This record gives sequence, C-alpha cells and structure tokens, in this order.
Amino acid sequence: MSADTGLSLDSLVEKAVAMLRDASHLAVLTGAGISTPSGIPDFRSDESGLWNQADPFEVASIQSFRRRPQSFYDWLRPLLGLIMSAKPNPAHLALAQMESSGLLQCVITQNIDGLHRKAGSHCVHEVHGDLREATCLNCFTEFDGESILVDYLETGEVPRCAECGGVVKPNVILLGELLPVAVMAKARKQAVACDLMLVVGSSLEMAPAGELPLMAKRAGARLIFVNLSTTPFDNMADMIIQADAAEILPRLTAPFVGH
Ligand SMILES: [Zn+2]
Repeated sequence: MSADTGLSLDSLVEKAVAMLRDASHLAVLTGAGISTPSGIPDFRSDESGLWNQADPFEVASIQSFRRRPQSFYDWLRPLLGLIMSAKPNPAHLALAQMESSGLLQCVITQNIDGLHRKAGSHCVHEVHGDLREATCLNCFTEFDGESILVDYLETGEVPRCAECGGVVKPNVILLGELLPVAVMAKARKQAVACDLMLVVGSSLEMAPAGELPLMAKRAGARLIFVNLSTTPFDNMADMIIQADAAEILPRLTAPFVGH
C-alpha cells in the first residue's frame, strides 16, 4: 500500500501506465536509487560508509582535489571498483527499451556510473559528468577515462598527464565545479518541453536535480516519482510510487515495449 494515496501498488502502476499513455513528451530523471539494485551504494546515504569515512565537502571538492589528489583517488577507490564491475538492472534496461521504442528521447541522470549507456540507452544527459573521459588539469589534454582508472586501480598512483605531467581528473563534476553547461541546457530543454516527467531514485537534494522537476511542473507537466525515500519535492508530485525502481520500471514500460 502507498502511504500517500492509500492505493495499492498495482493500482498505482496501472494509473502511472495510463499517464504514460496520455503523455506526448516523456522526460526521465534518474538518481542514485536506480543504481543501488546494481550494487552501487547511494554514496550520500548513511549505509554506504563512503561519506562517513571522510567529509565529502573536504575530499570531493575541486579545491581539495587540486591540493590532495591522492586523497580523492583513495576515497573514490571502493566506489570505482563497484562501478566498473556493475551491470545494469531491470530499471536501466526498461528505460533503454523505452528509448528504442520511441517513447523516450533521452534520460537525464545524476549518476556517474554509466549504467544507462551499458543498458543500451543512447541519449543520456549526465548532469554530474561521467568517468569515460578524464582531463589534465594543467594542459587540458583529454584521456580515455577507463584506462586511466584501471591504471590507478592497479598501481594506486595518481594519474598523470602524458604530455605535461599534470594531475589528471575524471570528467565528473566535483563540489565547487560548474555543472556542464551544454548538458544542463539539454536537460532544462527536456524539462520545459515534457508533459510528463518520471523521477526515478533521486532524492532531488543534490543540485541541479530539484530544479528540473520544478521547471517541468511550472511548464505544466505532470510528475511521477518512483523512489524508496521521500524528497523535499514530494508535494509537487502527481503520483508517488514508493518502491524499488528495478521492480517498478519494467512494469511501467512493459505495455509499451511489447513482449
Ligand atoms: Zn597535461
């Protein structure tokens, strides 16, 4: 049963499917909760321990990266191992199927784990960046992120630029860095153009996530949240399905992708 509406999960799913059917432009925003069933902890949650070992504002900011890159890489190490071996779960796969069926243009995600692309989604707006590429902070030469990180996992040494010896940083957005302008522009465009936004596994606490459903709502879109936890924006939602995304998303998409 849903605490919010008193409707059973089955009725909620049925109503959400009807909303999807009515929609002419669907936008999807995903956060950490879509990847926890793939074994990647929500690194903002208490259980993961990642945030507990170190103050994130200390270790995961661009200022401290520049001062102590070794501390950053060592902090990231357990998460990197999990991300590199993680497989997409049924929620990622459902969204990829929706794209290939033409029902969804693009996924907007806060995640840096690359699982939407691994699942087969082609159009993914990664608003917090990604690990596929890395950049020298000194001369801005770009490198293949994956091989840089594999080398780091093997040697434990901070990746250095082959051109100038500068420190190389994965293209993920650290605290204190600007969000990628072009990606954000595309995400905002989706938010104002859509008439239905599905928010999956995002607590909507980390900027700019909260702004997107707010923009969508103001532009007249309906909002469906699929989340295990509550969000500061729950009062905006037209429907809240408090359940595991890996269970719910295949049920939402099944009527559209056929079997
Ligand atoms: Zn360089």
